[in-house]
Amino acid sequence: MNNSSPTTAPVAIVTGGARGIGLAVARWFLARGQRVALLDIEADALQRTVADLAAPESVLGLPCDVSDPAQVQAAVDRVAAAFGRIDALVNNAGIAIFKPIAETGYADWRRVLAVNLDGPFLCSQACVPHMLAAGGGAIVNIASISGLRASTLRVAYGTSKAALIHLTKQQATELGTQGIRVNCVAPGPVDTEMAKQVHSPAIRKDYHDVIPLERYGTPEEIAEAVGFLCSPAASYVNGQLLAVDGGFDAAGIGLA
Ligand code: NAD
Repeated sequence: MNNSSPTTAPVAIVTGGARGIGLAVARWFLARGQRVALLDIEADALQRTVADLAAPESVLGLPCDVSDPAQVQAAVDRVAAAFGRIDALVNNAGIAIFKPIAETGYADWRRVLAVNLDGPFLCSQACVPHMLAAGGGAIVNIASISGLRASTLRVAYGTSKAALIHLTKQQATELGTQGIRVNCVAPGPVDTEMAKQVHSPAIRKDYHDVIPLERYGTPEEIAEAVGFLCSPAASYVNGQLLAVDGGFDAAGIGLA
């Protein structure tokens, strides 16, 4: 539990925080007395989520497309103005388009890279000056096991997540010297709206067959890892990839 008053408690920005993993991460911070700004492209869903969280002093919801540099800068500056500091950034917003290479149009390719890769780059760049002003900070990028191992249908998604893993190392190397730690979480399959949209019955069976724990993860299980990496308990952890995947990566059995 954080003992700071609501007006001095640490502040985390969580992108894609209106639902799914991002919302679980937001709840993790709030349960520890921290303040949270949720940035999400779905303005209506975001408004409902903020109302449900029922913590008006500690939660700010800002509609924002993380792939748009001007929207990102404006949202991050609003968070800093409203809360007075930014300590953590969780680059969680992401989209998945699962198609064979031949059917992946250029617009699909560009949109996936814009949200999943440009988004974390832009949000991090906008947050760094505020983190430096706060005396340091922590960034966690949400990648995927699809960024660790190639499998069919994920040419754009897997490539964006592999690049995000490398972006993490670049950021950790450079920003670590300024007191900002940057790490990456690679979730295995998690039952969220995204999984409902792109995980066919065949993909679900495939995951069940290759994951040693034989099940999907929960958003809360991913949030525990993210929260740890943002916390002082991880004060010497920088540039790391933490797979929260039920043992998928360790087992090394490929997906179709
Ligand atoms: P989700 O679709 O349930 O939630 C994603 C959220 O991001 C939504 O609220 C959506 O509105 C928001 N979003 C989408 N595009 C945005 C944009 N341009 N700007 C701002 N917000 C935007 O997905 P989820 O399963 O909670 O996924 C969260 C993250 O975890 C993603 O980066 C995803 O790639 C990653 N991930 C998910 C799984 C899984 O199986 N669910 C597995 C591995 C990694």
